Amino acid sequence: MTRTVYLNGDYLPETEAKVSVFDRGFLMADGVYEVTSVLGGKLIDFGGHCARLARSLSELEMQNPHSDAEWLAIHRELVARNEITDGMVYLQVTRGNPGDRDFAFPGPDVAPTVVLFTQSKPGMAESPQAAIGLKVISIPDIRWGRRDIKTVQLLYPSMGKMMAKKAGVDDAWFVEDGAVTEGTSNNAYIVKGNRIITRQLSSDILHGITRAAVLRFAAEAQMVVEERPFTIDEAQAADEAFITSASAFVMPVVQVDGGDVGNGKPGPVATRLREIYLDEMRKAAL
Ligand code: PMP
Repeated sequence: MTRTVYLNGDYLPETEAKVSVFDRGFLMADGVYEVTSVLGGKLIDFGGHCARLARSLSELEMQNPHSDAEWLAIHRELVARNEITDGMVYLQVTRGNPGDRDFAFPGPDVAPTVVLFTQSKPGMAESPQAAIGLKVISIPDIRWGRRDIKTVQLLYPSMGKMMAKKAGVDDAWFVEDGAVTEGTSNNAYIVKGNRIITRQLSSDILHGITRAAVLRFAAEAQMVVEERPFTIDEAQAADEAFITSASAFVMPVVQVDGGDVGNGKPGPVATRLREIYLDEMRKAAL
């Protein structure tokens, strides 16, 4: 089946969807994105992703081209047309095509470029990786200072994934001033005793939609949440570690820079939070 994608108001076969070479997303990474998971044909935490999209656009002085209701309708239409049961919807809004390359932002007459597409991932919530856990290495965080904006400027995170791959592990955690900021495409956590420790929100990290939901569920389950920076030494001495993201949900981390976390196996807190997250989010899916 040829995939149907969305481009600026049209639903097109992917081979017919074309964007200008002058698009500022292409030339300058001047654009933002969101990834919403689909489970059982329904969108997970759609409201959270819509709210963050609005914030990313506003921080970059871009107009939001659609209302939340319109975004929802486009997402649903793409899920239906591509018969997605489990997978994700990727959404990207760039500052569009001003007709020339220029550093200054174009005026409001230049329309944004809006692209959405789906990726099918049958059984994604039953990933066997969750029973094994991830191994991570630490790498310096040399990204820009507005990591709270979800821009398409993903070169260093891509390089981080490659460094992890070359080191024979699954992912990398960024470290700045001696403390973990986040993973290449996820938020990072450790568990010590009855405390879940994760970095506090600021422009140093992306405000994960999954993070917000998981911390809410943890508090509801009477777990203690401590929002502060933690070090790699602390992670290696922790009882458990895990990451969260819209596509990995809650995923245990069992090794950090070659050192086992706890007994080197997925721990009960991460496993429980994954179950709660998936149960609750499936119930609330749109
Ligand atoms: N941090 C970074 C750098 C990310 O790229 C992502 C995934 N988009 C996250 C955290 C997790 O955010 P979310 O839970 O909203 O997917």
